[in-house]
Amino acid sequence: MTDKDSEYILPEHVSRTLGREAQRNNILAAKVIADIVKTTLGPRGMDKMLVNSSGEVIVTNDGVTILEEMEIDHPAAKMITDIAKTQESEVGDGTTTAALLAGTLLAEAEKLLERKIHPTVIAKGYRLAVGEALRILQILAIPVKSKEVLKQVVMTAMTGKGAEGNKEALSELIVQAVDQVAEKKEISLSDIKIQKLKGESVQDSTLIQGMIIDKERSHSEMPSLVSKARILILDCALELKSPESETKISISSPDQLNSFLESEENRLKEMADLLIASGASVIFCQKGIDDVLQYYLAKAGIFACRRVAKSDLEKIAKATGGKIISQLRDVHLSQLGSADEVEEVRKGEDFLVYIRGCSNPHAVTILLRGSTQHILDELERAVKDGLGDVIAAIKSGAVVAGGGAVEIELSKQLRVFARSLGGREQLAVDAFANSLECVPEALAENAGLDPIDILAELKRKHETGSATHGLNLFTNQIEDMLSAGIIEPLKVKTQAISSAAEVASMILRIDDVLISKGPDSNAKKINNPYRDID
Ligand code: ADP
Ligand code: MG
Repeated sequence: MTDKDSEYILPEHVSRTLGREAQRNNILAAKVIADIVKTTLGPRGMDKMLVNSSGEVIVTNDGVTILEEMEIDHPAAKMITDIAKTQESEVGDGTTTAALLAGTLLAEAEKLLERKIHPTVIAKGYRLAVGEALRILQILAIPVKSKEVLKQVVMTAMTGKGAEGNKEALSELIVQAVDQVAEKKEISLSDIKIQKLKGESVQDSTLIQGMIIDKERSHSEMPSLVSKARILILDCALELKSPESETKISISSPDQLNSFLESEENRLKEMADLLIASGASVIFCQKGIDDVLQYYLAKAGIFACRRVAKSDLEKIAKATGGKIISQLRDVHLSQLGSADEVEEVRKGEDFLVYIRGCSNPHAVTILLRGSTQHILDELERAVKDGLGDVIAAIKSGAVVAGGGAVEIELSKQLRVFARSLGGREQLAVDAFANSLECVPEALAENAGLDPIDILAELKRKHETGSATHGLNLFTNQIEDMLSAGIIEPLKVKTQAISSAAEVASMILRIDDVLISKGPDSNAKKINNPYRDID
């Protein structure tokens, strides 16, 4: 059947791409994505400058941020972007590696397709290779025994990022922060608040006990400091509902107007009485607070912040032991959170609210300083990578050698495994082994080194039994990565390898792409990316 034949059954607005053409097109898209992120891999990777439709500028080295901001249209390319996102949410780091590996796996698969090897055979070979790679990784994994190892993990994650110059100090902060929130093994990135504040410089960043939010009290007559705070956390508005747009209020005399205003004020007064009666001395509200109500609260000596972000509200609840309340009538003293002190602090032009001495001693905030918003944003991404890595290292309890060492070792052992297989899957496992070399290759290329020489030297080392030798980009030498302290959490690699292989196999199995432009003939013409290829 051809593309033409399907015109008999498909409506006009559906276009169809079939067979090898569809495959070739999808693989090309994946390769393009891999090429884009490749130059950012590793400590010597370059940054990308992205400008969105509203003119906002982002300068970053972070794989997932680049892919998200590119607003990619191509369906297969989107699938690669999605694995970077999964990598980000599951581990918090390794997004470039995952996208690069997925693209390379598809590029290698293409060579096999040219040799008439069926996509399902390649997919099966890749599945076998992943199973074996995960088994080998468990053997190569080194248990985390000390905080020093965690610090090295953070430093490896931050090398080459905006945080590079201060990574010693920042990694200390990150490890301390995680140490404080680590209760069981159940730590997550959301337990640690990162607050950015423009001004001073990166090395002035600090770890603060308790919470900080970038808000100010809503009324200047409210106290700026409350000790022994009892904290009410609300996600409902402290305003009177605005009348529906159709509601007409007909007022024909000044008396009527007065009584209407009075009734409004009475309702606000009632609300204020409820809030005061709750025993709260501090209120954090996700929505707005009416001006009149603010005045009543100020008179009662209550500190209140409005329009607090939901994510902050959740963190405040966790830190102070309070409940998030949606109905004012339900407020009960036992639902209030507590902290030793809530204070509004002015820093330059900005206001911050500090919540110190929270009832939950595990609440911590990393206060990041930096001279511009771009620096702060990139710093935040680097710190998040570092945090994600420490948490991943603690959770899986193991690390592996970085600098391409683990990829080369896996590749070597997979080639041995391939020889144990009969049939054409063997070729796919070999292709998988070749693909893994994309990591050291990109690391070398980005540092201006010759990837061919580096790969040859690395392979020679691994053949002679040095399983942890990789490319040290501080010295540009092939060295033992463990003694150089270039290590990464095991989870970064297991996640990147499994999800890259999964998406590569999924894309390989697609041989028919149907794109609907929507039945509306006036609908905006959607670009069919499958039409533009050779
Ligand atoms: P990702 O988004 O995949 O985490 P990065 O740009 O953070 O991408 O680069 C990670 C890679 O850089 C890893 O393979 C890691 O081992 C490597 N790497 C980090 N520091 C060094 C170093 N000093 N020398 C060599 N390789 C390094
Ligand atoms: Mg990284």
